Amino acid sequence: MEKTSRIYVAGHRGLVGSAILRELEKQGYSNLLMRTHAELDLTDGDAVRHFFEAERPEYVFLAAAKVGGILANDTYPADFLRENLKIQTSVIQSAHSIGVKRLLFLGSTCIYPKLCPQPIREEYLLTGPLEPTNRAYALAKIAGIEMCWSYNRQYGTRYLAAMPTNLYGPGDNFNLQTSHVLPALIRKAAEAKLAGDAAITVWGTGTPRRELLYSEDLAEACVFLAVLAEEKLDSLITNDAPPLINIGTGADLSIREIAELVCRVVGFTGELRFDPSRPDGTPRKLCDVSRINALGWNAKTSLEEGICRTYASARELFTAAAH
Ligand code: GDP
Repeated sequence: MEKTSRIYVAGHRGLVGSAILRELEKQGYSNLLMRTHAELDLTDGDAVRHFFEAERPEYVFLAAAKVGGILANDTYPADFLRENLKIQTSVIQSAHSIGVKRLLFLGSTCIYPKLCPQPIREEYLLTGPLEPTNRAYALAKIAGIEMCWSYNRQYGTRYLAAMPTNLYGPGDNFNLQTSHVLPALIRKAAEAKLAGDAAITVWGTGTPRRELLYSEDLAEACVFLAVLAEEKLDSLITNDAPPLINIGTGADLSIREIAELVCRVVGFTGELRFDPSRPDGTPRKLCDVSRINALGWNAKTSLEEGICRTYASARELFTAAAH
């Protein structure tokens, strides 16, 4: 990938896409293509094809997706399945039709079976039943991985599927109904502190474990994969296994420990109250990151540092509202 290559970041306003864009700009890539949702509806296959034919990107980061936390996924499974299938089908097919050199498809580690051995190796894909709260989203993403692999085998493309663990970072979704756990806890702790509340409510039992990756670390990994030397990419793109790679830190904490850390960073000294009527979701999803580590990439940002930066980026959103 040259500094002047035509690079399309799909989903450049989202948590992942915006971080990829900042990373590409930081590294001096100057020919970046973007379209807002209003300018290009990625679920519209014809519109996407016209865009690719007109702009002819050489590299694609497919970070556009309908995403959400445990409640949103559990409440709107049809939307998560339909929109993600449409977006990835239009973008991958259009990329192929104009001969895109490399494409990086972003998914999530919820594609792996609910109870698979930990840490989760890429080989565990499709070895057991999925977690019900995000099954629809996971199946869409699994179809996307299969699409990358099938196109590679049938058409000789060089598409890679990167599966990041739970993400957070600046520009995160802080809406308590649709967000993931980390932004939700930052908001709850920040607003309880402002309101002088005695406690915050944490969903579930506090015992599930989650690995959390800072969005800017993920963005660095994505660019790292996009510029990977051909012979290293060959080791990931084979006929024998999907072109899949986990991206994570390799360490996890319980939801209780994550909540305690958030409260410490935010300076909320009240109590944590657990609400077991809310779903816990999968008990644990810790990635095995040896594949990406062996290629030469490791996550750098500590969870504490990442929470500090995410909190700092969003402080003006918080008010002393009661929850
Ligand atoms: P998941 O990793 O797909 O399950 O998605 P989430 O990030 O939404 O949830 C992770 C875990 O955090 C689950 O066990 C949730 O029950 C728990 N959790 C605790 N408090 C919250 C909260 O306020 N919001 C969300 N989204 N999850 C929470």
